Formats: sequence, structure tokens, C-alpha cells
Amino acid sequence: MTDAPVKLRAEILAQRAYQQGKPAPANSFKLSSNEVHFPPLESVQKAVTESVITNRYPDASAAAVREALAEHYGVNAENVIVGAGSVSLLYQAVQAAASVGDEVIYPWRSFEAYPGMVTLTGATSVPVALRRDGTTDLDAVLEVITDRTRLIIVCTPNNPTGPVLGQREFEKFMEKVPSDLLVIADEAYIEFVTDPNALNATRLLADYPNLVVARTFSKAYGLAGMRVGYMLGHPEIMRAFNTTAIPFLISAQAQAAALAVMREPEAIRQRVNEISARRDEVRRALLDQGWPVPDAQANFVWLPCGAQTEAVADILREGGIIARAFPGDGIRISIAEEESVTPLLAACWQAIERYPY
Ligand code: PMP
Repeated sequence: MTDAPVKLRAEILAQRAYQQGKPAPANSFKLSSNEVHFPPLESVQKAVTESVITNRYPDASAAAVREALAEHYGVNAENVIVGAGSVSLLYQAVQAAASVGDEVIYPWRSFEAYPGMVTLTGATSVPVALRRDGTTDLDAVLEVITDRTRLIIVCTPNNPTGPVLGQREFEKFMEKVPSDLLVIADEAYIEFVTDPNALNATRLLADYPNLVVARTFSKAYGLAGMRVGYMLGHPEIMRAFNTTAIPFLISAQAQAAALAVMREPEAIRQRVNEISARRDEVRRALLDQGWPVPDAQANFVWLPCGAQTEAVADILREGGIIARAFPGDGIRISIAEEESVTPLLAACWQAIERYPY
């Protein structure tokens, strides 16, 4: 039962809206949303300021951004769509692919928005458990494909656990997936990956027309507040996904920011390298403390805390660290400014002393 004064869809009422990381209290570090902590690049800030247009609609097709991305990836502009964050493109994709009676498979735990976008279409989610080490089990995914499956979403590196899929492992998987079944590789954090054997699904697009890659400017490129993400794939799939878009969601400022940040590859590379190096350092220190932290290839680390999750999150909060707790499962901690590392490790040490593994 709910308190809604009108009839609304029961499955929507039963769901919670997407939970955003709360603002950090004073004197604490907000490590809950996988944002980068760096201030906007000057050139990006300037491009945004100069592109503010309040009375005209933006270019609904984000043509300039699509062309720049097409050039970057060596594909045609018709292979690219741009959305208000990759989450909006994922919603569009699920709506284009699945409906009542259909099934959507995704390894779980993964990006929190997947279940909600499937419910919205009336389709059924088929979550496939991760392995104990936080890795994705593609064989288990293959086993649950039925003739009702319309879409498989795999997240690599996986949010919130951190490991990647391997290039060869994923190729073998794609060889076995029916060629008319859509697969989306959600690579929101790919820029932080340092494992040389990790999947880069864009390399497989030419071989697998049923494969679509989702990426974003929100993470490594620091534009979370501007809302720009993109997908790469077969032109007919891109066209179909576009038809389910809410028009004009990507503002002129957002498009200008994406174009400007693409002109700063070296500055972005430096920032990404700094975060990836800090991630490795934090993970090593946590392993030394005794935390079984899975391989971390994005800009966060995962503490598998099980039943102690909320108690550990409280200790972190008291120590000035705001992380994302998934009750009963674990805590995801974003890697950000250098100054956050000492309080983070101190709080984790306190937690593991109180709740040893
Ligand atoms: N995919 C994954 C795995 C994510 O973690 C996120 C953001 N948390 C997104 C997609 C969506 O990001 P955005 O909409 O900002 O591009």
C-alpha cells in the first residue's frame, strides 16, 4: 500500500527512485558518487560560459559532438548517439529493446539504475550473481538466455565492485551469444583501466553488429554536472535508440563542454593517471589491513562488508568519509583528492579492528 492519492503503476510504486549520494557534511570527503574532484578545466569552463543560450533549443542531435566522437573512434557519425548522460541512453536502449513479457539480463550487483529502467518497460530483470571476488560470470549469463531475452547489459569495470572483463573472455562470450540478441557493454569507467588484458568493447564493434558500447563524459572527463554520455553501435540500432529519447535534453552548454574537453586529451590523461595510481595505492593499503578488496580498475574501491555494511559506513562517516553503502553487501569508496587518503585508511583500519574478517 502507498499513500498516492491516485492510481499509479504498482511496480513503479514498489520501487525507490535512483538514490543520489548525499552532500558531504563540512570537514568530510564526498567519496560516494565516483565524481572526479578536480575543478573544471579552464577551457571547458570558458566554453560553457560562452555557449549559454536561454531562448533557443539546443541541437537535438548533438551533431558536432557526434562528429567529434566519430572522428575519435574512426567510425561514422551515424554510429554514434549522444544523450543526457549515458544513463539516459541506457533508458532509451532498454525501452527500444524490451517490453512486457521480455527479459533483460545483467550481472548483479552492478549499476543501481539497471533494475529501475527494466521495470519501467514492463520487462523482467534477470540478475546473474557475480562471483565471490566481485567478477562477472559470463558463462552464468549465457546459461540464462531464453527466447524471451531481448538485452544483456554488462558493466566493465563493474560498478560497484571494480573488476573488468577480459578482452578474450568477452570475445568468446560474444561468439556464443545469438547474433540477433542485443548486448550493451557499459564502459562508464573505461578510462581508468590499467589492466592491459581488459576489455575495450569498441574494438569488437565491427565484428558484432549486435554489440553497443556505452561511455560517458561524467567520470574521467569530469563533466558529471553537464550530463553528456554516448553510445557507439550499428546505425539502425542507434536510430532506434534515438526514437525513444526525450528531445532536447542535452543543453548547448553540455554539448560545448563535451567538445571542449575532447580538445584536452593530455590534461585529462594526467588527471586519470593520478586517480588510477592513487586507487592502486589505496587498494594495496586496504589489502594490507586485511580487507579482501576486489581488483579495482575504475575510480573506486569496494569493501565487501556483508552484514556489517551499515556499521562500517557509520565508522567511515565519523572519520569524515562519505562513501556509498549497499546494505547487506558492501561499501563503494570513490578515489579522489590526496588529502582524503589518510582519513580514509584510518577509518577503514578502525572498522576492521572492530569488525575483523
Ligand atoms: N554506467 C555506470 C556503470 C555508472 O556507474 C554510471 C554513473 N554512476 C552511469 C552509467 C551513468 O553515468 P552518466 O549518466 O553520468 O553518464
